[in-house]
Amino acid sequence: MNICGKRMYALLEKLNFERLSTFEGEQKAAAILKKEIEELGLTPVIETFKAPRYTIKTAKLEVTEPFYKEYEVNGYGFAGNDAANGIEADFVYLEAFEPIDLVDVKGKIVFVANGLRPNDFKILLEAGVLGAITTSGNFRDTAETADLDQRMLRPIHIEHGKLPTVCMRMKEAMEMVASKPGKVKLTLSQEEGEADSQNVMVEIPGTEYPDEVIVYTAHYDSVVFSHGMFDNATGTATILEVLRYYKENPPKRTLRFIWCGSEERGLLGSKHYVAAHEEELEKIRLCINVDMTGPIFGRDYALVTAEESLCSVITFLYKELGHPMTVMQEICSSDSIPFADKGIPSVNFLRRGANNSYQIHCRHDVIDIISADALERTAKFIVAFSNRVIESKFFPIDKTMPEIMVDKINKYLRKKL
Ligand SMILES: [Zn+2]
Repeated sequence: MNICGKRMYALLEKLNFERLSTFEGEQKAAAILKKEIEELGLTPVIETFKAPRYTIKTAKLEVTEPFYKEYEVNGYGFAGNDAANGIEADFVYLEAFEPIDLVDVKGKIVFVANGLRPNDFKILLEAGVLGAITTSGNFRDTAETADLDQRMLRPIHIEHGKLPTVCMRMKEAMEMVASKPGKVKLTLSQEEGEADSQNVMVEIPGTEYPDEVIVYTAHYDSVVFSHGMFDNATGTATILEVLRYYKENPPKRTLRFIWCGSEERGLLGSKHYVAAHEEELEKIRLCINVDMTGPIFGRDYALVTAEESLCSVITFLYKELGHPMTVMQEICSSDSIPFADKGIPSVNFLRRGANNSYQIHCRHDVIDIISADALERTAKFIVAFSNRVIESKFFPIDKTMPEIMVDKINKYLRKKL
């Protein structure tokens, strides 16, 4: 089988830079993918869409009483400009969000150590809090070993209003809270807007059943500070290798490959695709999504967002081929969700890293933890599974979505809470 892990690994090396949504790195990665596809003699399409983008102008935290000290902070994107001119207020360390914790927070700036979930913003705004401070990283991190996070709020965080919010290093936060600040001054100003992101797409028409379409998805963007080698240059390289295979071995059914942009901003590329191609969805019979493969230490998984019988099929296949893996009927927080939400059966292939053998969403998502062999093994399995579907006399997977999966998807997309 013409699947080559070394070739996949070489693409990781080409993508070894930050690929943040709407920024230059993401565009550069899209251009690299476009070129790779063109070199196969195929014609890619780049489809742009708008994604949120913010620019922090000022983010400052000063303790003003009973002593003066300034701390390095980063502002939360889309946390508004209410503190543009600085808000000085009493300081409170808020341990939790129970009514008793909130007795005395009105008109104050709160510090929280455990992060803020969407509903926490609502609670803080209703309690009359003026600003919030959260933490970044763990207590051992230093500027040399970790970046101070840059976080962006999503619509779900700001539907009840905007709370000026910044984050600071855990270690410094401990020192600050222990020193018992009386008053702090928080300053945060930013431009909030949007900019272009893009999906890269290409299709190989089916030779016998062109109206039955299988979609392969993988996101190629990364988060800030991360080169996103594991998450998800690996999936990006995997579906490119699958594309190469089917360019050489023409498929009976139509295969569409979508490298999604802005997944890390909330599945924006795949959400855009299903919204912009509503009329094509009827023909799409299966989505195969690949998000994170290739770690040297790990375990292959298939997360099947479809009828349970598909789990049995994949289980049979991995036993037949002697490819150990774990198969579960489950959703996956990745680009298959918008397709599954439209009733399209989806399978997510991934290789979970062994504990402590990898890190993602930070500067430590590096190529060192990936091997060409592991990339190749998973890609071969994906092709073996794909071939069973592509070669079938009759499309073997019913286009149905069981209730249990519909519920999970709805919860995930916060249609229900
Ligand atoms: Zn990912």
